[in-house]
Parts: sequence; structure tokens; C-alpha cells
Amino acid sequence: MKPESSLSRNNTELASMNSSSFLARRTTIPVLRRAARACTACNLWRTARQTVFGEGTSKAMIMIVGEQPGNEEDRFGRPFVGPAGKLLTQALAEVGIDRATVYVTNVVKHFKWSASEHGKRRIHKKPRQSEIRACYPWLESELQVVKPKILVCMGATAAQALLGKDVSVTRIHGQTVESPHARFAIATMHPSSILRAADAASRQRKTDEFINDLKRVALLAAKNQAA
Ligand code: SF4
Repeated sequence: MKPESSLSRNNTELASMNSSSFLARRTTIPVLRRAARACTACNLWRTARQTVFGEGTSKAMIMIVGEQPGNEEDRFGRPFVGPAGKLLTQALAEVGIDRATVYVTNVVKHFKWSASEHGKRRIHKKPRQSEIRACYPWLESELQVVKPKILVCMGATAAQALLGKDVSVTRIHGQTVESPHARFAIATMHPSSILRAADAASRQRKTDEFINDLKRVALLAAKNQAA
């Protein structure tokens, strides 16, 4: 889909858009969100309906980062409103975190997909490194504005983009790791992997792991609040 004409910028200007230029102007999330609507820095805008920017209060203590918007997010223009987002909201509630207090976003802001065999469904496709790199300034800008105390990376794409390219979520999930982006950083699985579990037992095991990781996040939030 073509970006909104009133906000269109040429590629040269977009290529020069980076977090520092925005930050120099003391930007805000709404300003970034409006600017990102016109982004054409990689090709993903061509096949998605709209940019799906992060959402939540810019004073959030916790920032949660996933991979990219899915089919529902692309339709509604909001992050984590599809099945995986509902699961995330439930899991956060279960550990005592109100999603309304959290800032949620993705590494890549446009939905990457391919048509299903009969062309009826849009199937998620993993973003390439070049697309992740092209989109990174938006995420970096969000981090600079929100300045989260606790950064939660859900899934390999987010963990590798923010915590290091060799990070294994399976190995470090639930542990607090060092990050230049937040006082505490933690990796966990993406809730979509729970939805893709092969059977009920595997789904339950993954759900338990996810909840345990989020309990750790809730604990860090409580400690931070008390400090
Ligand atoms: S995915 Fe990111 S870099 Fe690519 S066009 Fe969309 S907003 Fe721009």
C-alpha cells in the first residue's frame, strides 16, 4: 500500500532519517509514528497495508519488543492485537502486569508475508537482516524516547537485534542480561511460538515457560518501583 500522500517523503530524505536527527529535535512517540507512516527505507511497505508503530505510554518502565506485525496488526495498524497479542495480554495479566502500562513494539514495522497455497491467507515471513537493519532506527528512536528500565525481547529476531546477533533465546530466556538500552534486559519466547506448538502438552510447557519469564519481569518491575 502506498504511504499517505500528505506525509510522503522521498527516499533520500527517509534514508537520512535516523534516530539522532529525531532526537535532536526532542521528538515524541506520536511524531515518530507519523513520520514512520511514510517510510520506504526497505521494500516491505509495498505489500503491507500500513506501518504498525509501537504503542503505549512513553513513560513506560517496561518495553516489550517482538519481531514484526502480523496479519491482524497490519489490518488494524496496531501492534499485538492478533492472537499472539491476546496471549501476551493474558500472560501479562497473569503475572500482575497491566498491558496499558507497557510500551509494545516490533523490530520491523511492516508485515512481511507470502500468499498461502490457494492464495486465501497471508502467511508470516521472517524479515531479512537488511530489512531489520533498515528499520532499526525507528526502534532505536523508540528506545531513546521511552528509556525503559526493563527491556523484554520476545523471540530470536528481537533478542538478536537488541542483545547480540549470537544470542540464543532457548539458552538465556528468563535471565537478566546486560544491555545498553535498559537497566535490565530479558529474552523470552515470542507468544506466536506458543500458538504454533505441535500439541497440547508442548503448548502447555511453552506457556509455563513464558509465564515464568514474565514473572521474572514482574519481579524486576517491583524491585525497580521500590528503588
Ligand atoms: S519495515 Fe521499517 S524500514 Fe521497512 S519500510 Fe517499513 S518502516 Fe520502513
